[in-house]
Amino acid sequence: MEKVLVSACLLGKPVRYDGQGLTAADDILAAWQSAGQVVSVCPEVDAGMSIPRAPAEIVCGEGVDVWSGAAAVMEKTGTDVSDYFKKGARIALALCQKHNIKVAVLTEKSPSCGSKHIYDGSFSNRKISGAGVTATLLTQHGIHVFSQHELTQANMMLQQLACAR
Ligand code: SF4
Repeated sequence: MEKVLVSACLLGKPVRYDGQGLTAADDILAAWQSAGQVVSVCPEVDAGMSIPRAPAEIVCGEGVDVWSGAAAVMEKTGTDVSDYFKKGARIALALCQKHNIKVAVLTEKSPSCGSKHIYDGSFSNRKISGAGVTATLLTQHGIHVFSQHELTQANMMLQQLACAR
């Protein structure tokens, strides 16, 4: 059975920077959970960051730039937390490799998990096109990363992969 990596906060786990979870109630997500296909990850907490924690954004770029060293993940308080974010991304990748996961559904706009949009680093609620640190690393390793707004597409990809095995 194909497993799928899912952001822990999308499963309602209270792991976000503000100590809250999200509600992504959806039939597809529920079906994956019932079938035991879901592997949960919170890259930031798994890397050792606290709950709650200061909000963080990628400054001067997106995930790929954090990996190259051209950008950094900064907390609003001014602390550089790039190393935590990279550690969390590596943990997520290791989970994918352990479970042979090829599909991930990650929370949009997060500096870790965002896959299409992230905040622009100004802490003013402005978004830019781009991916977070974890989404970038997973994509670079051939994992198909979707947001919570693309569950239908993620499910189709899972089905295609299952047929191809
Ligand atoms: Fe959710 Fe990802 Fe942020 Fe963890 S790192 S709280 S899983 S968006």
